[in-house]
Amino acid sequence: MIGLSGRFRKDNQNTVNKEQKTPRRKSGLLVLISLLILGLGISGLFMACSDASDTSSGATGNPMPPLVTDEGTATPVEGTNAGDEDVSEASETSLPADSEEAAGQSLQQVPVYEAADPASVEADELGQIMVLMYHHIREPEAEWSRTPDHFRKDLKVLYEQGFRPIRLIDYARGQIHVPAGTTPVVFTFDDGNENNFRMIEDEAEEWIIDPDCAVGILMAFHEEHPEFRPHATFFINGGTPFGQPDWVDFKLNYLVTNGMDIGNHTETHLHLGDASAEQLQQELGRIQQLMNRYVDDYPVNTFALPFGSRPSSDSVAPYVERGTYQEVTYVNEAVLEVGWDPYHSPYHRDFNPHKIRRVRASETKVDGVGMYDWLASFESGSRRRFISDGDPNTIAIPESRAELLREDLEGYEIRLYEAP
Ligand SMILES: [Zn+2]
Repeated sequence: MIGLSGRFRKDNQNTVNKEQKTPRRKSGLLVLISLLILGLGISGLFMACSDASDTSSGATGNPMPPLVTDEGTATPVEGTNAGDEDVSEASETSLPADSEEAAGQSLQQVPVYEAADPASVEADELGQIMVLMYHHIREPEAEWSRTPDHFRKDLKVLYEQGFRPIRLIDYARGQIHVPAGTTPVVFTFDDGNENNFRMIEDEAEEWIIDPDCAVGILMAFHEEHPEFRPHATFFINGGTPFGQPDWVDFKLNYLVTNGMDIGNHTETHLHLGDASAEQLQQELGRIQQLMNRYVDDYPVNTFALPFGSRPSSDSVAPYVERGTYQEVTYVNEAVLEVGWDPYHSPYHRDFNPHKIRRVRASETKVDGVGMYDWLASFESGSRRRFISDGDPNTIAIPESRAELLREDLEGYEIRLYEAP
């Protein structure tokens, strides 16, 4: 049992496990085959298929990948994130001390799945990935509000159709850890609304995570379906993220400890169009400063553009990606737009981690480009979805799509196979 069943005391909130979080590294065991696709003798395909694209290549359809039913064998790997030394502290949140996951350990670690023969799961690691955009989780359903029950429905539908959450930063870095035959999906929530993460008192006057807030729903679904990990990025502004000033410390640490992330959404939700370099760096640097007050060594390295707008000045634009404010330096490895459609695989030649488009996870005023529209497009084959072979170190793709690969990839083994 995790999170939801735990009871929390305000006076204990500072004791939540403050794991140090460091950027993931690629395993030292990676086979350093630096994209020898030319050596694989497929260069001729560049000419033959030079006009192919993700949106038009579904002529032969993209049948649903076979679902992998036995995913419970995922095992966490040591050493990619924090150490184990603080496990005992986490038990102060009244969670079962003998459960590794109760301490949040395994959700910070990279899961390992059994690799499959690419053809057997119709792997396509050049297929597209949905970065879902949510705002409020509340009644009633509206353009920027998803109801708790509708959010639960989204999770169920995604789960049943073979989607598995990954961290946004792992997507940006091309480190895809999902079971063979499944498709990664990224959850994002903008604005740090209280209904994303709320603490409430139950009948016994114990503090619990509101089972109807986004975090409560994600954690409950994960309890039911352990291989559906509760990865999500919450893009916060300054002030009091998620409301409830007494709980900010607990909430930020809880998220990080349970495999979720905090992203930057500027201090004041600034429209960046006319921003100066100084203003932009202050807006972004202050969110890193805020995190530094609560969580040890947590780099805020993802950024969702408020209103989807970018600085109009070319001299200001670079500060979207990196900058310094009062000696705090930030590097945004992923920059997210408001978007409208599934975005490229990180291995695709058109992938740009600083221009990631998002899909509106809504059914209201989505103009035919909401999440359910794209699920239909994946099913019909008009869009191709990413299908993993279960091995994060290989890029498994049908031979006919090889010319869509990025040319600057390093550290992956390319596995081409002849699609049926
Ligand atoms: Zn916003």
